[in-house]
Amino acid sequence: MGGTFDPIHHGHLVAASEVQSLLGLDEVLFVPTGRPWQKQGRDVAPAEHRYLMTVIATASNPRFSVSRVDIDRPGPTYTMDTLHDLQQQRPDAELFFITGADALAQIVSWKGIDRMWELAHFIGVTRPGHVLSDAGLPQERVTLQEVPAMAISSTECRRRVDSGQPIWYLVPDGVVQYIGKYQLYRSPPGDLQEE
Ligand code: ATP
Ligand code: MG
Repeated sequence: MGGTFDPIHHGHLVAASEVQSLLGLDEVLFVPTGRPWQKQGRDVAPAEHRYLMTVIATASNPRFSVSRVDIDRPGPTYTMDTLHDLQQQRPDAELFFITGADALAQIVSWKGIDRMWELAHFIGVTRPGHVLSDAGLPQERVTLQEVPAMAISSTECRRRVDSGQPIWYLVPDGVVQYIGKYQLYRSPPGDLQEE
């Protein structure tokens, strides 16, 4: 499951757990992006912080683990490179790339899309507020999967932290504490908010 995980929240975890169970996957590998090419416009928390929060959030689930492939590769992250590297690391694995339905709708614009169909099955999880229109995706390669509705996004978590609102129960307890410990997502006092 790829994502920025800035920070990881219960929407990600529910989606991963649901897809794991429905498809009977042996393992769900969370892959925090290095520098996401779609998010070049905004500041993303350092990769090491996003990686460690993902480790904290997934540590208790024996089927969940976290990969460093994207954060250790220099330059912007392209899903094609992610899948290629994972295939090299696990040549016998059948790969499923799990992503949100919003991201799936953008999939056709991804670099190297034709070759990507050969490397993995794509699972698009529906998130609240997203209506899926047929984007002309190959049906034998893309599965749309409804997951229990959780109206949580990382953007909303960051906004809440910055404005002093709680994020307890939106993200795992250890992630709340990690964000507090390293003072993530707080703009310096007196800083004017963009937007
Ligand atoms: P941001 O608000 O910064 O874009 P995000 O909450 O969308 O963050 P990402 O790290 O971009 O989180 O998400 C990784 C994947 O998980 C995306 O494909 C996204 O659509 C999906 N996802 C995020 N939140 C949910 C949710 N509540 N339910 C289902 N899928 C989700
Ligand atoms: Mg997003």
